[in-house]
Amino acid sequence: MHAIHDFTGKLRQPAVAGALGTYVQWRRELERAREAGEPEPAAPDLVPVSINLDLTTACNYRCTHCIDWDILNTKHKYREEELREGLTWMASQGLRSVILIGGGEPTLFPRFGAFVGFLKELGLQVAIVTNGSRGQALVDAAGHMDAQDWIRLSLDSGSNELFAEMHRPTDPRMNLDLICSWIPKIKAANPVVRVGFSYIIVWSGASRDDEEINENIHEIVLAAGRAKDAGFDYISFKPVLERQESGAEVMDPGKAEMEIQGVVARIRAEVEKAKQLSDEGFDVYESINLRLLEEGSWSEFTRQPRTCHMQALRQVLTPTGLFNCPAHRGVSKARIAGATAYRDAEARRETADGLADLLATFDASTECAQVTCLYNSVNWWIERLIRDPEVDLAGELGEERLDYFL
Ligand code: SF4
Repeated sequence: MHAIHDFTGKLRQPAVAGALGTYVQWRRELERAREAGEPEPAAPDLVPVSINLDLTTACNYRCTHCIDWDILNTKHKYREEELREGLTWMASQGLRSVILIGGGEPTLFPRFGAFVGFLKELGLQVAIVTNGSRGQALVDAAGHMDAQDWIRLSLDSGSNELFAEMHRPTDPRMNLDLICSWIPKIKAANPVVRVGFSYIIVWSGASRDDEEINENIHEIVLAAGRAKDAGFDYISFKPVLERQESGAEVMDPGKAEMEIQGVVARIRAEVEKAKQLSDEGFDVYESINLRLLEEGSWSEFTRQPRTCHMQALRQVLTPTGLFNCPAHRGVSKARIAGATAYRDAEARRETADGLADLLATFDASTECAQVTCLYNSVNWWIERLIRDPEVDLAGELGEERLDYFL
């Protein structure tokens, strides 16, 4: 498993032991009280170790494969002062990292670079997932970032033509050539920040709301060559996800028109060719999902414990509220609290109670039964820490990796 997906290893780091320990201790007491028929202990004031922060719902693209389609351009906005107050408190209580990502294009947030500077002043690790359309905003942000931080551009194509078909930018002049021309400028602004080219692999038959989306397996190698030439540090490949009617993001290879093994063989052949381009300055990564799809074992990652413990340790803050998981972003039954969830003492108490309610009522074994959840093994590990009182938390600690993105 690539280190960025080793969430158990990340939660074994001594720097986050306090947050995990508080959570496990509370859950142990809760289980004991339930068994004894005693009143349940109140939820402690917990802040997540890591958040996905959707800065805006606005987007200047209309991507055919977008999984956040229903929440885009909904006009919901933060009051920036309130957002800053909440984040400042969270950082003081154990929040370690922020991924500026989805539900809209983060760089459209006003004064984006300055906002990244604010997060860095709070001592947080910061990552940016962007469509790459606002190069100057990325240059401005990069100037504030450190070696542990990263920027990833969602590009998914190797030619300008396929890029336009897949992403449908509102500005027709936007294309891959233009976006890639900003990479050397970002690197010049800060050479230590890793910049990645993200490629979601889409195959014939994948769909959004029954609207068929463009296949891009044939441009995998072209994209890898383009990424290397443009100065990206890496390209990463992962299979497309779809939204179910329930709102969950799932990987459903059964929808492919051809036999799944045929699709997988084509993907594998192209990814292997792309890997030939890797060298000391350029990496080619494939997501764990791709490997699971190939092994036919993706459904093993759909067997979740009843309680998803990651809800307490990694959350999704959006202008429409605080949600329990990126796979359920914007879905009402996955909502913990409002957008000002951590702003003041009253909001924080409601958030703690909302989290306790969701931990009790959100049955991940059914709600996420179709989700190939990359947090599957870490959830089962935490389940064991709670259920087995013999486990000494201090004995579970591992090495400090300085990577707090969950
Ligand atoms: S079990 Fe996985 S998919 Fe479900 S809420 Fe938890 S982390 Fe998200």
